[in-house]
Amino acid sequence: MPSESGIGWSARSGVVLTDRMRAFLDLLSRESGVTLVVSSGVRSATSQASALRGKLAAGNDIEDLRDLYGRRSPIMELTGHPPETWGAILASQVARGVYLSDHMTGHAFDLSGDGHSTAEMYVIRDAARSLGAEAIVEDIGTENMHVHVEEV
Ligand SMILES: [Zn+2]
Repeated sequence: MPSESGIGWSARSGVVLTDRMRAFLDLLSRESGVTLVVSSGVRSATSQASALRGKLAAGNDIEDLRDLYGRRSPIMELTGHPPETWGAILASQVARGVYLSDHMTGHAFDLSGDGHSTAEMYVIRDAARSLGAEAIVEDIGTENMHVHVEEV
């Protein structure tokens, strides 16, 4: 899948965006004054499973994942099974109208911290909030540092 870009932002290869996200990214780059790189957008069950396994590979454990997703039933069901089965379990949750992550409903995207200071990540976060989104800086101090933006 080709990568795409807009005004002051680009998306990594394979990232799926909605039109609302694209419009918001144009505004967010201007508001923050930071060139943005989208590392994750809309996730299918398969891509959400890959993202979770990536967090394990990056050194998180099952309890970290449970905490990250609020220890609610979707993550507790999922993490009771082996990681290689997670794609199928997430798909069965979606079929029941249950979504582990706002990435799966098309309402969240992540902005990479690559090449950015932590201070810049907070600038991006605050700009996203000023535009009416919810935003948090995650994985601070790691190579996976990113701003998670949702409900745009
Ligand atoms: Zn996210």
